[in-house]
Amino acid sequence: MAPGIYSRCHTNILILKMNTPCFQNFIDGQWCDSSDGKIFENRNPANWNELLGTFPLSTKEDVNRAANAALEAFRDWRLVPAPERGDIMRRAGEIMLRRKNEIAEIMTREMGKPLTETKGDVQEGIDTAFYCATEGRRMFGINTPSELRNKLNLSFRVPIGVCGLITPWNFPMAIPTWNIFPGLVAGNTFVFKPAEDTPWTANVLVEILIEAGLPKGCLNLVHGAGDVVGTAITEHPLIRAISFTGSNATGAIVAQSCGILTKHVCLEMGGKNAQIVMEDADLDLAIEGVLWGAFGTTGQRCTATSRLILHEKIHDEMIARLVERASKLRLGNGLDATTDVGPIINEKQRKNIERYVKIGKEEGAKCILGGKIAEGRAGSTDLRDGWFFQPTIFTGVTPQMRIAKEEIFGPVLSVLACRSLEEAIEINNSVIYGLSSSIYTQDINRAMIAARDLEAGITYINAATIGAEAHMPFGGVKATGNGHREGGWAVFDFYTEWKSVYIDYSGKLQRAQIDNA
Ligand code: ADP
Repeated sequence: MAPGIYSRCHTNILILKMNTPCFQNFIDGQWCDSSDGKIFENRNPANWNELLGTFPLSTKEDVNRAANAALEAFRDWRLVPAPERGDIMRRAGEIMLRRKNEIAEIMTREMGKPLTETKGDVQEGIDTAFYCATEGRRMFGINTPSELRNKLNLSFRVPIGVCGLITPWNFPMAIPTWNIFPGLVAGNTFVFKPAEDTPWTANVLVEILIEAGLPKGCLNLVHGAGDVVGTAITEHPLIRAISFTGSNATGAIVAQSCGILTKHVCLEMGGKNAQIVMEDADLDLAIEGVLWGAFGTTGQRCTATSRLILHEKIHDEMIARLVERASKLRLGNGLDATTDVGPIINEKQRKNIERYVKIGKEEGAKCILGGKIAEGRAGSTDLRDGWFFQPTIFTGVTPQMRIAKEEIFGPVLSVLACRSLEEAIEINNSVIYGLSSSIYTQDINRAMIAARDLEAGITYINAATIGAEAHMPFGGVKATGNGHREGGWAVFDFYTEWKSVYIDYSGKLQRAQIDNA
């Protein structure tokens, strides 16, 4: 979205200016404007005429204040017992549960996906809260015997310090909570920059943590543009770790800065996830899976199914049935109970999808469904008021085509044919990404081979490529990430460092590697 520039808002917290809520940053326990008073707009992608609010277009100076506040808060927060820190996440989970429907509605209005999906997004935050609350009582260390007498070896996790969190718009509650909750339980503090398209949900998350009792300075929210606020966070000397979820192009910039500045960095980036359907699969199930995987969240998930690899024996039947079902998907405003597929997040992204449809046609693939900007009415919604795009299916796609290799991030499915499991796996693995994968087969041997050989951080057997659970490691191999995982116990490997402690109670000098040689 192009940020608009307006005059400064003069009152605190939520301000009404020409009936438009004017939201703020949250730094050092205070709601505040950007240091130079500039703001940007948050609009509804299902109805661009609907202005939801304005948010601070923050500066490097705002990030600096936030980083200093986070460091100050860290001095005490790291000493709060982890179970006590976990209790705050549990309370946050309870508040989210109470506010679930309200938050889902806010999220649907600012990013478009249907209410059922935004409720799921909030639920993921709730699950993460409750999971992290219990991890506060675990976070196990590892003790090993010493190689010397009268000596004790301990190793345990310690927090890193101030962490920077840069998030995308497609899971505005789930992704921030995957990071903030475990990161806080581990004893870190945060400077958080949400995506420009979904700033409101981030404010709600801050409100929840304030109500849950989080001390001031532990979570600082700084809204604004990626190349200003994101860059300032990445490059700030007090911020020791960066968690980034977004595009590979931006991830590369973030990784480069972090490399030069020797920061920890967790990258979650692109995907080109495939669902494989073998000739022995339950086709009804496989169709449900691909409809959900390809067109749920309008294809705008990092785990979305953007390739369908069909065994040649069931290829034509699957296509016919899939097109029949996909053509009945109802586009519309995510607040309407009848909507299956919401809008694209913004105009820029819709143009990108249009560009890929053109590329697919030029490459010789056959567009057998959709391929165009959606028009007409859906209930009370005029689809031309939002960024709607028709669910789109390409057949005759080959692994060399760009629509088979590049992330499109929209409701566009590329169908490829295969003759064997080996070929299906080879096609799956032929892309640079490796986030999610799926195979439909009734044959346990094939399923196990696929689970072993599909190059992806996640493999689903007889289930769609989407559906990560909060207590399982989440992340991808190859160009999708840099080896870290969010979710479950694995995220604590990112948000902590290991401390080794040797306690010598022999009363004399003992020399490891020398006395026992
Ligand atoms: P997407 O295309 O999915 O929006 P981006 O990578 O552009 O992905 O954005 C993901 C997040 O990264 C957003 O919060 C965005 O503001 C932020 N961002 C964009 N550019 C930069 C940058 N140069 N440095 C740090 N963060 C950035």
